[in-house]
Amino acid sequence: MDFAWNSQQIEFRKKVIRFAQQSLKSDLVKQDKERIFNRDAWQKSCDFGILGWPIPVRYGGQELDILTTAYALQGLGYGCKDNGLLFAMNAHMWAGEMPLLTFGSEEQKEKYLPKLCREGWIASHAATEPQAGSDIYSLKTTARKDGERYILNGHKHYVTNGSIADIFIILATVDPSLGKEGLTAFLIEKDTPGLVVSEPISTMGMRSAEVTELKLENCEVSVANRLGEEGAGLAIFNHGMEWERGFILACAVGTMERLLEQSTRYAKTHKQFGQAIGKFQLVANKLVEMKLRLENAKGYLYKVAWMKENKQMALMEASMANLYISEAWVQSCLEAIEIHGAYGYLTNTELERELRDAIGSKFYSGTSDIQRVVIAKFLGL
Ligand SMILES: Cc1cc2nc3c(=O)[nH]c(=O)nc-3n(C[C@H](O)[C@H](O)[C@H](O)COP(=O)(O)OP(=O)(O)OC[C@H]3O[C@@H](n4cnc5c(N)ncnc54)[C@H](O)[C@@H]3O)c2cc1C
Repeated sequence: MDFAWNSQQIEFRKKVIRFAQQSLKSDLVKQDKERIFNRDAWQKSCDFGILGWPIPVRYGGQELDILTTAYALQGLGYGCKDNGLLFAMNAHMWAGEMPLLTFGSEEQKEKYLPKLCREGWIASHAATEPQAGSDIYSLKTTARKDGERYILNGHKHYVTNGSIADIFIILATVDPSLGKEGLTAFLIEKDTPGLVVSEPISTMGMRSAEVTELKLENCEVSVANRLGEEGAGLAIFNHGMEWERGFILACAVGTMERLLEQSTRYAKTHKQFGQAIGKFQLVANKLVEMKLRLENAKGYLYKVAWMKENKQMALMEASMANLYISEAWVQSCLEAIEIHGAYGYLTNTELERELRDAIGSKFYSGTSDIQRVVIAKFLGL
């Protein structure tokens, strides 16, 4: 594995950071308080090409290799503090575009990918249900075939981008008696009769993203909008999860880098007992731990990126990256607050929001427990 970045990659990451710092800056205290998704920043990110980074040029993307994409996303997280926006973009790319790219028919890819990469369309992925979270294969949403259409009925929970999405990938079963083998995915456009999206749900963090519920009430979907074959839902879900678990926290690695720099600056300049607090070993040690976590997080991220770039299966490595980075992100946010003392606890310092945003990463893409379950299975347990 060679993670030595060439000058083009380094220059591109710098360009991404500049773009993020200049164009994606916004009043996040207000957005967080009032739960505002920044549609303008989404469009700017789309115009900059971000939403098509890993997608082939022929479908409207930029066709960056996966390592460069991961490295650039890290730069994006370093430059942009709007974790909700970054979460929305990553959900769109990894759980929306990637399954469509791999399992979509040529017609579906030509119809939807250019819109998702460069025309501002937003994708959403709805799998989780009230009684099917970690146990996703027991989902109850049904898709009954009726001639050239399917009729879907069910209830989805925690749908990221739900209220702003133009297209949804929805997981249902064509026959509950088949278990996992009956799982089938559908591409459903917004405004399809019978697709009912709730208002955004209020959440602890990621409040500048929109997470909703969704109901399917005799929602008719043409056979042409089935994604893959009947029964391919399991493979589509697992494929999407591999990408999502592997890369949805790439931006968080950049955030951790920014928080380390900010906390180090503070520790060098803020004084107690007549000296900079960074001179106290207990404070310095927190910064050392933040540095170790950052470097380990990069290692996990780049390894998955290298494996995917080399067409390898990385299910376990994606779970390891997701587990490690989510826990590292939470811990580093907490320590950044501690280093800043009571100042870190203030809303306007914007560190408490970072912590609330980070905590969500222990749940989406599968909880930390479920990542451990996946890794244990690969160990033969
Ligand atoms: C911000 C956010 C955005 C999300 N976006 C989406 C989305 O876009 N699309 C989507 O489909 N879903 C989405 N989700 C849902 C997410 O995938 C689920 O929350 C997750 O899979 C866990 O399901 P659950 O919340 O129902 O918890 P449960 O499965 O009910 O788990 C409850 C607790 O039990 C533990 N547990 C359950 N089973 C086991 C086990 N076998 N071993 C050990 N512990 C176990 C869990 O770890 C957890 O601590 C989102 C969630 C969040 C928080």
